[in-house]
Amino acid sequence: MAKNKFIRKLLKLQDLSVVNFWFNSRDKTLNLLVKPYKNGARCPKCNRRGRILRTVDAPRCWSDLPVCGWTICLLYCPREIQCPTHGRIQENIPWADGHARITYRLEYVLLVYSQQMTQKTAAAILRIPKSTLSELLHRSITRIRDGHRIRGLKSIGIDEISYAKRKKYATIVYDLDRSCVVWVGRGKGRDTIDTFFKTKLSAYQKQQIKWASCDMSRAYMGAINDHCPNVTLVLDRFHIVKALNAAVDEVRKEQWRLASPDQKKALKGLRWLLFRHSSNRTKRDTRLLNLLRKGNRRIHRAWVLKDEFEKFWDYKAPWAAERFLKGWMTTALKSRL
Ligand SMILES: [Zn+2]
Repeated sequence: MAKNKFIRKLLKLQDLSVVNFWFNSRDKTLNLLVKPYKNGARCPKCNRRGRILRTVDAPRCWSDLPVCGWTICLLYCPREIQCPTHGRIQENIPWADGHARITYRLEYVLLVYSQQMTQKTAAAILRIPKSTLSELLHRSITRIRDGHRIRGLKSIGIDEISYAKRKKYATIVYDLDRSCVVWVGRGKGRDTIDTFFKTKLSAYQKQQIKWASCDMSRAYMGAINDHCPNVTLVLDRFHIVKALNAAVDEVRKEQWRLASPDQKKALKGLRWLLFRHSSNRTKRDTRLLNLLRKGNRRIHRAWVLKDEFEKFWDYKAPWAAERFLKGWMTTALKSRL
């Protein structure tokens, strides 16, 4: 195997080939002269091929992941091309973003490390000065956040997450058409979500929102209805199942409180069994649940209602789903739970 090919394979360099390499022992650097693997230069904006106009004289340098104490440096002279749409532009670099000085994979590692450890430690491991790391981090985050800007928002999803061991909350707004996060706010509840609607969306943008999905909290549903005039609220499956499970659990707790010590022994370990989806149920589970029908009628009735509801998700025709839902609600109301 040729040396250059060996280096390329060893360092798992993709989309490029190594033309030449040399070590610089003084600053512990391995310099690699590279070129894109595929022939032809493409426009970074539309990915179309363009006519090559000229080569920039001085090679540019991109830092890559360090290996065994060596800093890896990719050297390449980018070319300028003529794109039919975008005019004179520098060619697309497959291993790094437009004006970045680091490769995509170093950037990725940088972001992951910075989540897990202090910037100082990350900088030491990646062999870059701390100030550089902080600047690179800001650049990457600014660039990535650019892709999450609000654009043609039609379907939104609102949810909350907890962090710092469930001590703090953040509210997240998603663009469901583009599958990305468009806004994150500190805290949860009505005030937080109001901030989003008031500061981030214009009156026109609010009118454009057609669908909104959230959990069943009054705060979010109220905010959506107040701010978006043309919206249809959608409750997602996850939150409905969660609410059903919570309701079953409430019945279980109530029965637990009323039970005698002997009965309590029988009811032990029931919690997770009741939560289990029918597709994950084993034969033993089914037997236990059948025993429950005689053992504790109320818990069994609650569980049956929850289990019945799973059928709802399989309906294709809206009228059939509606009929099922009405029937289910009547049974639930009559169940006296
Ligand atoms: Zn172009």
